Amino acid sequence: MINKIGKIVVDRDLCIGAASCIAIAPEVFQLDEENKAIVVNPKRADDETILLAAKSCPTKAIIVFDEEGNQLYP
Ligand code: SF4
Repeated sequence: MINKIGKIVVDRDLCIGAASCIAIAPEVFQLDEENKAIVVNPKRADDETILLAAKSCPTKAIIVFDEEGNQLYP
């Protein structure tokens, strides 16, 4: 059972612009002008998709928290 996702953070120092998160959840993640992922809308994909996107990141730059602020991933 997956807790409800409350917050998604992209660590800009870790992000290498690989864009696999965007391939999986384009409604949630986009690349900005520095080729770093930004969260455009955390509510536009279901929790499972967001976790898949986070797990697809080769540098584990996507940090996912539940609504209580507990870290779900990584
Ligand atoms: S998958 Fe990771 S490294 Fe690639 S754009 Fe997304 S956050 Fe950045």
